[in-house]
Amino acid sequence: MKKVAVLGATGSVGTQAIEVIRANSAALCLCAASCHRQWEKLVETVAPLRPATLITATENALLSYAWGEERATVYSGKDALTRYAREGDYDILLVAVTGIHGLAPTLAALERGKTVALANKETLVCGGHLVEKALEKVGKLVPVDSEHSAIHQCLKGEESASVEKLILTCSGGALRSVPIADLAKATPQEVLAHPNWSMGNKITVDCATMVNKGFEVVEAHYLFNLPYENIEVLLHPESTVHSMVEFVDGAVMAQLGTPDMRLPIQYALTYPLRLPSLCAKLSLAGKSLHFQAVDGERYPCFGEVLRAACRGPAALVALNAADEYLVEQFLLGHIQYGQIHTLLAKATAPFSGDCATLDEVLAVDEKAREYVRSLL
Ligand code: MG
Repeated sequence: MKKVAVLGATGSVGTQAIEVIRANSAALCLCAASCHRQWEKLVETVAPLRPATLITATENALLSYAWGEERATVYSGKDALTRYAREGDYDILLVAVTGIHGLAPTLAALERGKTVALANKETLVCGGHLVEKALEKVGKLVPVDSEHSAIHQCLKGEESASVEKLILTCSGGALRSVPIADLAKATPQEVLAHPNWSMGNKITVDCATMVNKGFEVVEAHYLFNLPYENIEVLLHPESTVHSMVEFVDGAVMAQLGTPDMRLPIQYALTYPLRLPSLCAKLSLAGKSLHFQAVDGERYPCFGEVLRAACRGPAALVALNAADEYLVEQFLLGHIQYGQIHTLLAKATAPFSGDCATLDEVLAVDEKAREYVRSLL
């Protein structure tokens, strides 16, 4: 029985993780769950599993919570996630919070030799170089994102010297068939209608701009230790091939499945075991699969992320901070879709170089947020 702590239990990946844990109660148990501020939703979501610890990132006067006769310990406040990661009794920490707040608890868990199932992008985008260092100790990192899970599955039992390149697939987002000339004025409603995956709003916008895919290239670089030039992205509108690995002999391995996040979540939690899942089985008869190269004109933000990646950690931290703010402004109707790219490039330009510590990462994040706000 593996004890799983779910950070970000009220989000999209978090709630699906709770479903997965409930469906696999012989192999997995929920020992802790956190929310940012939706305390009622947290309690309601995890009530059937009665975890021994509840965590909220906002201040909360409660020291414990009663599940009938049993009492759960409550951690609250700004550093509650990291405190729990550092001292909690768990086997796997599923980091499914959004934003840069995922980085500190991930580092804390890895530094004490725990396994982290990582669903938080910002951890590797902003702190991949710090995670790399933490992994030199005994901790383990298992990817949850569908693309990285696919690659992780294709690489099982393979030597790293046999790998030629990684091929990440992407759906192209909600605007993939909108004429390029009309993109600049796309509305939040149009952008949020993702064709294949159901996810949170921020990541759905990032899928349309392909900032998300840029982030995934960075994540793949750190997770699988390959240079950027050996990581390719292909548009694949059916979202059936979740990603591929090409080997030195020319063989290509792919992982296929229905687009359902519960599968990669479950694989990360039960790895290296495979167990029956809640996901619908894939039926390929009569289906066609399509692949095409990424059009840089349609997805200028994608290139922006890769350029930032080549300028070092500070540029990525700044780009991530700026993107978060710009997506929020777009969803509020304060800027147009087309401005996301121009402002993203402008907001990232002054930042480059290293961020050697977590504090430096957080300082650049803060500075970049101030700077992007000053541009509007
Ligand atoms: Mg993904």
